[in-house]
Amino acid sequence: MRNLNTKHKYKRVEILVRGTVQGVGFRPFIYNLASRFEIAGTVSNTSDGVVITAAAEDNRLDLFIQAVQEQAPPLAKITSVTTRALPNSKEDYKGSFSILPSVPGLSANTAIPPDIALCNDCLRELLDPGDRRFHYPFINCTNCGPRFTIVETIPYDRPQTSMKVFPMCKACTKEYHDPGNRRFHAQPNACADCGPHIALHNNEGTRLATNSPLAETASSLKKGLVLAIRGMGGFHLSVSACSPEAVALLRQRKRRPDKPLAIMVSSLEVAKRFCCLDPAAEELLTSPEHPIVLLEKLEHTNLADNLAPGIDEIGIMLPYTPLHHLLFEQADCPEALVMTSGNTSGTPICTANDDALAKLGKIADLFLLHNREILTRVDDSVLKIMADQPFILRRARGLAPAPIQVAWKLPEILACGPGMKNTFSLGRNKSVFLSQHIGDLDNLESYEFYQESIEHFKKVFQLEPEAVVCDLHPDYMSSRYAAQCKLPLYKAQHHHAHAVAVMAEHGLDEPVLAIILDGTGLGGDGSIWGGEIFRTELTTYERLGHLSQLRLPGGDIATTEPWRLGISALFHSFGIDSIAPDRLPETLRQIDSGNLDVLTAMLTGGFNSPLTSSCGRLFDAVASLLDIRQHISYEGQAAMELETLAKKAWTPTWAGHILPNSHTNISPALKENDGKWEICSAEFVKRVVDGIGRGEDKSSIALQFHTMLISSITRLIEILSLQTGIRKVVLSGGCMQNSLLLEGLSHTLKSIQLKVYTGNLLPLNDGAISFGQTIIGGLRHVSRNSNAGDQRSG
Ligand code: ZN
Ligand code: ZN
Ligand code: FE
Repeated sequence: MRNLNTKHKYKRVEILVRGTVQGVGFRPFIYNLASRFEIAGTVSNTSDGVVITAAAEDNRLDLFIQAVQEQAPPLAKITSVTTRALPNSKEDYKGSFSILPSVPGLSANTAIPPDIALCNDCLRELLDPGDRRFHYPFINCTNCGPRFTIVETIPYDRPQTSMKVFPMCKACTKEYHDPGNRRFHAQPNACADCGPHIALHNNEGTRLATNSPLAETASSLKKGLVLAIRGMGGFHLSVSACSPEAVALLRQRKRRPDKPLAIMVSSLEVAKRFCCLDPAAEELLTSPEHPIVLLEKLEHTNLADNLAPGIDEIGIMLPYTPLHHLLFEQADCPEALVMTSGNTSGTPICTANDDALAKLGKIADLFLLHNREILTRVDDSVLKIMADQPFILRRARGLAPAPIQVAWKLPEILACGPGMKNTFSLGRNKSVFLSQHIGDLDNLESYEFYQESIEHFKKVFQLEPEAVVCDLHPDYMSSRYAAQCKLPLYKAQHHHAHAVAVMAEHGLDEPVLAIILDGTGLGGDGSIWGGEIFRTELTTYERLGHLSQLRLPGGDIATTEPWRLGISALFHSFGIDSIAPDRLPETLRQIDSGNLDVLTAMLTGGFNSPLTSSCGRLFDAVASLLDIRQHISYEGQAAMELETLAKKAWTPTWAGHILPNSHTNISPALKENDGKWEICSAEFVKRVVDGIGRGEDKSSIALQFHTMLISSITRLIEILSLQTGIRKVVLSGGCMQNSLLLEGLSHTLKSIQLKVYTGNLLPLNDGAISFGQTIIGGLRHVSRNSNAGDQRSG
């Protein structure tokens, strides 16, 4: 063996490629690349990643490995490429290159790819009468189609997906095995002869006799009926978005009076008629993920005005499955369709045909069904552009379950997430597998979805946690789940987890200042926090300041009745006399006197009215004082309407004028006591009440409230930065989804030369909590184990 012809320096290596490399056309890519570089060997999917054995002269091997990284298919996300030498054998250099069947392995670091919108090649074929898949609603290829939603387990191969019940016909089989074909090893490959089909049913489950279910669907939508449409990750409920009557009918049947409804339109051109589109928004709408993007509504369109009452934005998306495209091809199809989650209030979206018929039968008139089973439930992802960057509001279809890489080695750990807007995460090594959006865990069905999803993630990523981490709040269902895991348990404070999520995304491991403007989370002192200024490290934090505490009269009910916060804010700002019926600002005079008496007793007696420093509740208070809204029907409603109102007074130079005074001028809204700072919301409330009394324009009062909040926080951060020497500031929390707050704070902090970090891979809201928890708990577990080791050795 030593006497090989050394002139050519033949080598044989094994190359391990990790990341999102399965189900994205990676093996055909390697096959074609190997032919191009005249390399002999094999490629296979293993649960550890894609393994290539390659034999050639060493210079060609080097070029080949370089090309693997540089020319990977668009959907592949390579996280590492490692090579090791294999023993030489002369025969290897003469052989051909082949694709081996998948081999199961021991440790899965390979991600299941997310689901991807129909690609342009498939769209062309879908609309080409000469193509054999003309008008076939399940056309796909290695560059597009369902993935995560149809995978049962890994490795990602057809027998482990819900396509296993559809044996491929001759023509599809030929494509599947032809390395030169776009459908080579495309696991969901199918055609009208061998694949899934659609059918239209009434709401009793009876199949309707029609030769065009799509034409029938479109004409029903045009007539104003409510349709349940089975999609990729679950059902949508759909009505014409141009018919206020149809929208009202859906709202009434779904018991969803005000919450904004997302719409789908056929193309960017149509989207431009309804909302402000800039190139960044166009790029997001047409990205492989095709998310819902929140965009500013244009005035005077033919969209129904009850799609998003009181809000100046509309969630819009483009068709992402062939079925959607075909629906818009129908002559009768309305030009915009409401496409909202097919669920009953608060529960997970329906995925199975029978479940949908049972649960949505009273909401939808007709059901457009298909028989490709959805194995994993995934909602539509939602994004928004603020400060010229995309922000994720809901991380789901197209984005999950792609792992997020971090800079630190983690143990195998499960982070259980928060109680509302839940996601959970699994950590291993330097990867965090963040679940898709699960939702609010306050009902049994969501909790079952949560538990099933944890088991599914453990299976597909072959991960067995050795520790768990949860929120400080013991009553969250996620915290209860953590407690019954019987594993070493770590608890992470909610707003610390918000901050660490951003730090981890940016690889920051030095101390930072964190501004967390949020709804609520249990604080380290047992009170409810939510407007917090921390000095934060990865595993510890110090609370340096917070918004003034307000009482929540009535407890939880106060979160849905802003008028309670309005009264509470007056009480804290001006004292008991100010909430006497004849002293109330005129915006609150309509409050029932009996209710007012009870509230006054709670506030003065301090019973059933916990204290909170929540920023979300302060927004509720101001929304109430301005009489924008005294009762809400969905979370965040009052704050969103307050933001919408403030934007009416906004001018392009607004942010530039937030800090008009010299840098040394301490805001009157800041108070210090023993190194702990309070941002006195009473100052903002006084300004609001003053403005109302003087009959000022409500939108300019609303904007001024934003301005005061931003400038006070900036002043405090400036002081703390001088005291601590820390120049890096992290922004997070649900209230940062308010673009005025986020853009205003980013601007003012940068104007005093601080470095500002926000999360772009993860939501600003509680969707990021489990990611932060993974890092906090994971690093604490690592250091506990190493400390234990130290003790033993010492
Ligand atoms: Zn395609
Ligand atoms: Zn076929
Ligand atoms: Fe939060």
